[in-house]
Amino acid sequence: MSERVAVVGGGINGLVAANYLRRGGAEVSLYERQESVGGACISDTVTVSGVEYEYPKGATVLGLMQDFVFAETGLSERLEIWAPDHAKAVYFDDAKEPVWIHRDPRELASELESKCGEAGRIEQFRRDEAEVIAFLQEGFRAARPPRLEDARRHIGHALTERFIEGSARDILDHYFTSERTKLYLGMTVIESGPVSLDAPFSAFNLPLLDSGSVFGGYYGFVKGGIWQITRALETINAELGVETLCERLVTSLDDVAADRVVIATDPVTAFGLAGLPPAPMELLGTSGKVTFLFRKPPRWKDAPEADTAFRFVFASSSLEAMEQSAQRVVADSDFEPGYIQLYGDGAAMRHMGYEEPFERVVAFVKNLGFGKPATELPEVEEWVKRELLQRIDNPEDLAHTLFLSPMDLKDQFFFPEGNVDHSMMTTGQNFSDRHFSSDPDTSFYRLGSLENVFYCGAGAYPCGSVAGTPGYMCAQEVLRSLGLPLSS
Ligand SMILES: Cc1cc2nc3c(=O)[nH]c(=O)nc-3n(C[C@H](O)[C@H](O)[C@H](O)COP(=O)(O)OP(=O)(O)OC[C@H]3O[C@@H](n4cnc5c(N)ncnc54)[C@H](O)[C@@H]3O)c2cc1C
Repeated sequence: MSERVAVVGGGINGLVAANYLRRGGAEVSLYERQESVGGACISDTVTVSGVEYEYPKGATVLGLMQDFVFAETGLSERLEIWAPDHAKAVYFDDAKEPVWIHRDPRELASELESKCGEAGRIEQFRRDEAEVIAFLQEGFRAARPPRLEDARRHIGHALTERFIEGSARDILDHYFTSERTKLYLGMTVIESGPVSLDAPFSAFNLPLLDSGSVFGGYYGFVKGGIWQITRALETINAELGVETLCERLVTSLDDVAADRVVIATDPVTAFGLAGLPPAPMELLGTSGKVTFLFRKPPRWKDAPEADTAFRFVFASSSLEAMEQSAQRVVADSDFEPGYIQLYGDGAAMRHMGYEEPFERVVAFVKNLGFGKPATELPEVEEWVKRELLQRIDNPEDLAHTLFLSPMDLKDQFFFPEGNVDHSMMTTGQNFSDRHFSSDPDTSFYRLGSLENVFYCGAGAYPCGSVAGTPGYMCAQEVLRSLGLPLSS
């Protein structure tokens, strides 16, 4: 008789977990409270000038997914993906001319030297980071829970201390001399929440956010929009025999009858479902999203041909200033300009031959407080708009903007304090501590001390994103616990 597994939550992690569990031989039922699956990787529609338009409501870019997950789930046979290879443009201090972040470490070192006065060790950083990333990726593939002893054995004590246990400030000071270089590379530390640059384990966010392999550590796009990933997974899972039950809010584990339960929601919900007292957790998120719709493709002043390149705008001029603005939001501020990441999502669709009535540019914005919905923060939208429009030649083509604050992320996606990783990537919640198990050495993805209940939402190792790595790693642990073969 087949073993039965209930998956609670139909975001990317629940969908990936269900896929691996089913292919491993389990009978799988997936419960989703919304009317359709996808979690934060979904589309929404808006009517602009009488035209209905579909756009990514939550996540926009693909990058952290592992190539084997993309292939083994069956996604690679159904979807077209693409990453721009153009250098990224970074604007510091209101500069009209960007600094170009080239892929080639030598070219990058030369650009940073001439434009930022960087005299540090860019190439050495990239070599060391690549070693750490190879170790992480090997662990993902083997579904091996993270352990400091393994890291020390594989990459040595020095790299483990610097890239995993260390603080972001120490690692940036170790390799670089220029404030601008440190700002650009330090950006990932506060990407989802206001993590202090001095916090132990904050350095880990640097290699972690470069550890996707679907585009070799870079970020890119899915033809038709990133929500095609969760849509396709739902179809593939149905073909495999996964039972997907939408509009099924699970309020207690008694609602689901199974040999194993895999909870793929945010961790606060998971604790509530299991009837456990909430674990002390730092949750706060400080990211917002502004989506711009243009009637005609925006023409970038810096390099018009690089319309799909990633662009970054920094409001802070030093690492210290970035740290202080991020922390002021924790205290009581509604908004402290930090940085903006601009994704040429619409241009990428055009590049892939996918025609749309509007062309979108998506802005991922730091540092927003948790106190207000976007409708009460018009100054934030105005600021982001100004920063974008001054860099293009045809601002008059802007047709519509849509804005979400961290409070909206809580209301619309159930992220407890609006964090896109479900919880902060900080001390006690990163690398080997990013779990909720009472016995991580025996069962890393177990929830508390419950033998048959597991947790694999974005709050589990390695982190959130449209990646599904926690879902994959947890599914393998569950299959092992059932005595079923690991699926690949
Ligand atoms: C605005 C925004 C922009 C982002 N941008 C990017 C990006 O560009 N690239 C990227 O990779 N990532 C991005 N992210 C992060 C990424 O989307 C998330 O980390 C990821 O989708 C989390 O997936 P998940 O499966 O762990 O959880 P979720 O997507 O949160 O899914 C959890 C699911 O569980 C369901 N659920 C909750 N409680 C219950 C219950 N009691 N019963 C039944 N079902 C329940 C929810 O409805 C939801 O569908 C972004 C997120 C947001 C919000």
